Amino acid sequence: MNNNESTSDGAQLSIVLPIYNEEKNIEILYQELKEVLGKLGTGAEIICVNDGSKDSSLQILKKIAGVDPALKVINFRYNFGQTAAMSAGIKAASGDIIIPMDADMQNDPKDIPQFLNKINEGFDVVSGWRKNRRDPLSKKIPSRLANWLIGLITGVKIHDYGCSMKAYKRELIQGINLYGEMHRFIPAYINWQGGRVTEIEVNHRARIHGKTNYGISRTFRVLLDLIVIKFLSRYMNRPMHFFGGLGFISLFLGIIAGLASILLRVFGIRHIVDTPLPVLSALLIIVGVQLAALGVVAEILMRTYYESQGKDPYQIKEKINF
Ligand code: UDP
Ligand code: MG
Repeated sequence: MNNNESTSDGAQLSIVLPIYNEEKNIEILYQELKEVLGKLGTGAEIICVNDGSKDSSLQILKKIAGVDPALKVINFRYNFGQTAAMSAGIKAASGDIIIPMDADMQNDPKDIPQFLNKINEGFDVVSGWRKNRRDPLSKKIPSRLANWLIGLITGVKIHDYGCSMKAYKRELIQGINLYGEMHRFIPAYINWQGGRVTEIEVNHRARIHGKTNYGISRTFRVLLDLIVIKFLSRYMNRPMHFFGGLGFISLFLGIIAGLASILLRVFGIRHIVDTPLPVLSALLIIVGVQLAALGVVAEILMRTYYESQGKDPYQIKEKINF
């Protein structure tokens, strides 16, 4: 096929599919994708990341890859999770625009052109919003709450952080390393870095083949990750300001409590063992010193991170006349 020629080196669009036990979905989804991509008239590659599937997903992928060089396969040694699979696919992508989506057919390839239109309008991230989401309430309710909280904390208000189907400009996303459940926070990251983020409504379908890999525990993991990214975004380059700041407050309160207990004793108002002040004072002072020490350790770690890899703690967008 003519289309495949242009895809093998430097596709314009990369579709990324994390795959864990999706043997019944792959072939149908592939056909759907081909139909949509064929109409685009631009080169497109489909990067499938097999995340340690235990069914015949890999065999099916290899079979398709044997006849279609535009379908590329990355095979993980074992199961690392959706975020890792998505991350590997994004790193390997050669398209200027990258669109990850679920491989269970819950996302609809027919939405791809809308994503491309928004990117062409100049947005750096286009987030899918599953307005009419076909999942059980046990998924929808925690997700609503999580989206609200993520919006509140990151300051980036989009409706559906959890929707995997999003479009990204490659230059912005390839520098981001993803850990934990963090693929959902990419829009916030990119917005913090000055990128333009928007969202579009997408079609969502119920899962027909196979079963979901995630339950409620994911919501808690997402919330923990939220704390991590909030912390990193503000204090990555200066952890001492965070830990040291808290340490100072604790030390200060500890000293006040200590002085108060001494004054009580001196003026004979109450015997110090009658009040919790001495214990409180010792506790607060120890915690304060510990926090400051933790801040120093974090500073050393942060500097090792940047300096051992020759990384700069800042990002330059462009340089002129150098
Ligand atoms: N997935 C993966 N590794 C995993 C779990 C899931 O690559 O360990 C893939 C899965 O094949 C699917 C996508 O991630 O393409 C979303 O998974 P799932 O449908 O289970 O999540 P849900 O839609 O229920 O949130
Ligand atoms: Mg799903």
